[in-house]
Parts: sequence; structure tokens; C-alpha cells
Amino acid sequence: MLKFALAGNPNCGKTTLFNALTGSTAHVGNWPGVTVDKREGTYKKLSAPVAIVDLPGIYSLSPYTPEEVISRNYILDEKPDCVINIVDATNLERNLYLTTQIMEIDVPMVVALNMIDVVKKSGDKLDAKKLEQKIGLPVVEISALREEGIARLMECAYAAAQAKRAGTTVLQGTALSHVIDDVKIALKGKGVENPLFHAVKLTEGDELEVVNHPDEMQMVEEFKKQFADDVFAGDFEAMVADARYKYISANFSTAVEHAKREQTLTKSDRADKVLTHRIWGIPIFLVVLFAIFHLTFGEDLLYLNALFGFAQDVATGNETLDAFVAVFYSSAGISTPGAIVFNLMGFVTDQIGGGIAAGLESAGAAPWAQGLVNEGIWAGLSGILSFIPQILVLFLFISILEDSGYMARVAFILDRAFRKFGLSGRAFIPMIMGFGCSVPAAINTRTLADEKERVMTNRVIPFFTCGAKAPILAAVCGAIASLYTGINADLLVFGLYVFGMAMAIVMVAFMRQTSMRGEVAPFIMELPAYHAPQFRNLMLHLWDKLKHYIKKAFTIILASSIVIWFLSNFSWSWKMVSVEESILYDIGAFVQWICTPMGFGVQLSSFGWVFVVAAVTGLIAKENVIATFYVLAPAIGALIPAWDDGESGIGAVVALMEATGITWQALLAFTVFNMLTVPCFAAAATVRAETPKGKFKYTVAFWILTSFVTASLVYVLLSWWWTAPIVAAVLALVVVFFVLRNRGKIKFSFKKKRGTQARE
Ligand code: GDP
Repeated sequence: MLKFALAGNPNCGKTTLFNALTGSTAHVGNWPGVTVDKREGTYKKLSAPVAIVDLPGIYSLSPYTPEEVISRNYILDEKPDCVINIVDATNLERNLYLTTQIMEIDVPMVVALNMIDVVKKSGDKLDAKKLEQKIGLPVVEISALREEGIARLMECAYAAAQAKRAGTTVLQGTALSHVIDDVKIALKGKGVENPLFHAVKLTEGDELEVVNHPDEMQMVEEFKKQFADDVFAGDFEAMVADARYKYISANFSTAVEHAKREQTLTKSDRADKVLTHRIWGIPIFLVVLFAIFHLTFGEDLLYLNALFGFAQDVATGNETLDAFVAVFYSSAGISTPGAIVFNLMGFVTDQIGGGIAAGLESAGAAPWAQGLVNEGIWAGLSGILSFIPQILVLFLFISILEDSGYMARVAFILDRAFRKFGLSGRAFIPMIMGFGCSVPAAINTRTLADEKERVMTNRVIPFFTCGAKAPILAAVCGAIASLYTGINADLLVFGLYVFGMAMAIVMVAFMRQTSMRGEVAPFIMELPAYHAPQFRNLMLHLWDKLKHYIKKAFTIILASSIVIWFLSNFSWSWKMVSVEESILYDIGAFVQWICTPMGFGVQLSSFGWVFVVAAVTGLIAKENVIATFYVLAPAIGALIPAWDDGESGIGAVVALMEATGITWQALLAFTVFNMLTVPCFAAAATVRAETPKGKFKYTVAFWILTSFVTASLVYVLLSWWWTAPIVAAVLALVVVFFVLRNRGKIKFSFKKKRGTQARE
């Protein structure tokens, strides 16, 4: 099978093209650095299927970043039949810099001029034919987003793949061409493949090449002596880069004719003036985030209803009609999109659950079988299913922010605000990705060059609440809001999300002062152009999420729920018993005391363990926390008089609060504990793989300690306000201690002194 590789700058539209070619649903984000590893798929519309390999986005083939090395080695070693170099036509000069390097490799190659729709819209004129003649490679205009020109591109690549191509360079005729030619001949004589490419890289002093070809490097060093007095003082790397840019602007860029534009700011610039404002940038981000949480987790459109007086009772007296209307409209006014989908889903799960229960009853199933199906299987499963639509609404909003280009700005403003605390904007990109799922977010940290930064980022990614933890927040906040008037569920969820982000920033700043001291890596990111999010893209992304959730619900979560049900309904002697005699009770009661500082330990007399068990099942998958609540609610809720047998959803959490006697403060502490503690196994394993060997145990200790201490503080502070000054004083002392220690004013080390032998 023929193999085509896609190569191009970050954010040039490579993933979009890859998806269009292969029908895959890889994540497209309007910011650089989303693809960090190569990805494979198949294009089937040519006479024979072609393998498509998507390489990470790069600006150059130098050896400085993992992406560059992956891409370069792939083209050199795997020898694709054709390289499709994607070029962002709105940014021709910069993108062609990479083109001039790939050209030097002996590989068939075509240039895909992407984003041609944007060029046309701006009124600029791009002469592809002219560029093709100048560059000496086939050039095809495409719009990956609109799927235009793609078939032609593939035919062109197919034709190019039929012949061999020898590398060419734009450095011909420059002061360096002599040495490049000499080195090339020497390398060729030794039978080295791609001699031109290696010759140029050697001339640049590329660190990977120098090691492999010491003799030829000697030739370059000799030659360098003639250049001691040159403006570049013999810095051949700079000379090569300079020569490339000069050639590009003198020869290739003439293919573009820019439309006459008045010197006014573009729309994008004007938006950026506001959205990335020095002072208002972060408050605007918080308002945007709150709007999202309000629309997702709020019950009704609070502000619109108040403003336009939508809040009215609309009871018609017809029960079915009223129930239907209640999905979209309550006495408080029009419901939020999140509430509407939640209500609809609740309606569906109630029908199914009721049907199953009635079916079992009339079939005369044994009590244990009824319990197993209704409580063990259905309660946990439906609990998770009922949240899926709402979480999808949340993802829809977040995807819109990402695809529009706004999230890239958020990384930028966060970088500006928190750089002095030791955080870089590059590290914020994986953190923000953590809102979706920690696993891809942790993989994304691969591109952080600084090891300490990578470790710190991996540790705090789980603090950015992922989609699996969202149901915990939604259910807990919903339950608290329904018990206490004056508390908004959406505001509470928003507060917890922001709290998680704040904790990430605080903990990175703390590590920067203690175990991970060092300089912040520079952050250079081009802000991508704003554009309207693509409907198809959004739907693909949501579909991917939905599949993932459903799979998880019917496998891991289902299995865990069944296990929890058995353990909570059977005794050690394997007889069906009430929950207070169950296996789970015994195990839970044994460890319950540990949670006393967080408010769900000995305070809850016999039921603190419910929360311990929920947190432990959360290690398997975070959705399990809520599924466990729902499975246990019937057994425990039965102990209170107000228990309603069919209680499900948020009502089950309310019942659990009443039956166990947990306070809202402790329940919030419990939520915070789950947000900050060891993430699910999948995420933990990924973090382990992405961080240096042998250090993972410290990361686990970090998660356990941070979550335990923070949750305890949350519980204490919320329960007893007067403790605030004491806690503040202790925290201030800790901060002062470390700051002084770093300035050398205090000498104190946690490490044991090593023996002299070890030092030798
Ligand atoms: P990658 O980083 O190179 O993989 O780039 P992506 O595929 O993630 O695309 C970056 C952004 O450019 C996304 O927001 C895409 O929707 C957008 N994009 C990609 N191709 C086109 C195109 O042909 N026209 C327009 N207008 N936008 C595009």
C-alpha cells in the first residue's frame, strides 16, 4: 500500500485534512500543538487504498523539539511514497520555511495550499501556477475545512509518488553552496542516503548530524574559518535560516498579491484588543466560563427570565401536557439548554426503569434478582446515563471556545498573568484540554521541553475538572441547592471548577518554590485567526465523547455497580442482609475514621464509609462516585422515613445526605477531595508514562496529600468561619518560610545528609 505523510506547521489545518481524507474523528483544535504523535488512517478514493500518516505540527526540521525529531525521522527512515506539505496560504512566507527544508530530502512531494477560502475572502490573489513554477513542486489549492480540492490533491500526490525525486535546495548560489556541495559529495561517496539534506544539516551544525558524521563536520569547521569576520561571525545556522527567508521573500512570495487594505485593524485584532486585554482578559474569561456553567447546570435562564418576565405559572391542568411542558419551562421561567436535555433524559430513564421494575415484579422474579437489576444494575447505569446529555452540552460549549480560537487566547492571558509564579502558557494548553479528559491532556505534555514543567503540569492536569468528574459536581451541587434555598447549583459548580483551576496555579507556584525550582520556559505562540466553529467538527467531537461515555457506562461502571451492590447486600457468610450487616459496611467502617478531618469520618456514626467507598470506586472511573451513591441510596435511604422507593437522580443524593447526616460542608469537602485526588486509573497510568521513571510515587503522594489537606481545610473553613484567620496565618507562615528559604535567609533541608562515601 502506498504511504503518504502529512507535514506542516502547527495549526495549518493538518488534522482537518487528515479527518477529511480518512474519515477519522481526531481532535481538531484551533491552537498549535494538538497533535503530538503521528496518527494513521486510510484514504480510499484512489484506485487503491493509501495509508495516510499525520505527523506532528512543526516549524522546521531542526532537532530541538520532540515533534521535529518525530517528523524528521519519519520522513528519513520510513520513506513515505509522498510527503504532502500543507501550507497555510494566509501565512505563506513562514510556512514555506519548512517547505524549503523538506525539499532537500529525496522524497516525492506536493504542496497543499490550504485555507484558500480565507485567502479568497480577504481579496488577496494567489497564483498557484506561478508558485509551482518557482518552487519546482506540484502545488494544489485546497480548503481542508470545506473539503475542496482534496481529490485533486490526492491525484497529484499519487502521480508524484510514481517517480523518484532528488532533493533540491534554495541555498544554491549562496555563500554556503560550496561547502554544502562538498559535504554532499563526501556523504554520497560513503553511500549515505539523502546526502543533500544531511549536508545542509551538517552545515547548520545540527547536533544529531554532528555525532553521526564527524569527518564531514571537520570539513565544515575548516570552511568556517573563512567566515570569522562575516556579519554572522561564522554562525552557519543563522546564515542558512537567513538565506532561506531571503529566497522565500524574493522568489516565492511574489506569487501573492495582497489586496489593498486600509490600515485599519482587522476584526480579529479588534476582538483581541478586548478579549486579551491586560486587565479585563481574565475577568472576561471567568464571565464566559460562568455563562457556560449557567447554561449547562442552571435550571432556568435566570437573568433572561427576570429581565423579560418569563417566569409565570403555566399549569394547564392536563397532566401529560404539564409534564411535557415542565421539561422546557417551569414556574421560574424558560429552562436552560442543560436542564432541558437533563429533564428529557430523566424522563426516558424513568420510563425504562419503571418498565424494568414492573416487568420483573409481574414475572415474579426473586427479591434478590429484583434488587440486583433495579438497584445494582439500573440505578448506577441510569444515574450516569442521565448526566450524559448535560455533559455533552458542556463539551459543546468548550469545543466552540476551542475551535473559535478563543482558548488559545486564554492560554496567552494566563501566561501573562501567571508567568511570574512559574507557569508558562504552553503548559496551560494541556491543562485546559484537561477539562475534556486528563488522558489526552497528559499525552500533550510530551511537547513541553522542560522536564520539571512537564512533571508539574501532569500533576495538576486532573485539577482541571474532566467530563467524568462533572456528574459528581452536578449531582452534589444540585442536591445542596435543592436542600438550601439561596444556593444556585450553577454558581456552585462554576465555583468548584474555578477552585480546581486556582489550586492548579497555587500548587505549581508552590512546587516552583520547593521541589521544582527553575526558570519558566519561554512561550511563543502565534494566536490563530478567529473563525466560526464548524458544525461538522463540533458534532464529530461530541459523537466521539458520546461513544466513549456509553462504552464506559456499559463496561467499567456497570461492573463496578454490580460489585458494589453485592457487597452492600450480602454478608461475609454470603446471605442477603440489610446494609448494616453487609461486607461493604464492615470494610468501610474499618477505614472511615481516616476521613474525619474532611467531615465524613466518625461524625457520620455508621455511614461515613459510604463516601469512602464512593471515592475508592472513583479510582476506576470517576463516574463511579455517583454511580455508587445511586446503588447504595435504596439500602441506606430505606432507613429514613421520607425515603421514596423510586427516588433516583439528584433526589437520591438528597436522601443520602439526610440518611447519613452528612453536612453540605462535608459534602463539598468530599467533592473537592475527589477533584484533587489520584485521578482514574487510565489517567494515572498516562501520567506515569509521560513523566520520568521512578518519580511517579511522588506524584501519587502529591495527589493524596493535596486532596486530603485541601478537603480538610474546606470542611473546617466552611463549618467554622472563625477558623479562617488561623488557617490564613498558618498558610502565610508556610509561604514566608519557603520564600525566605529560597532567598537563602533560612537554611533548612528536608533531605538527610549523605555520607561522604556517597558524595565521592
Ligand atoms: P493542525 O494543528 O495543523 O492539525 O490544524 P487543525 O486541523 O487543528 O486546524 C486548525 C484550525 O484551522 C481549526 O480551527 C480548523 O477548523 C481551521 N482550518 C483548517 N483548515 C481550514 C481551511 O481550509 N479553511 C479555514 N477557514 N479554516 C481551516
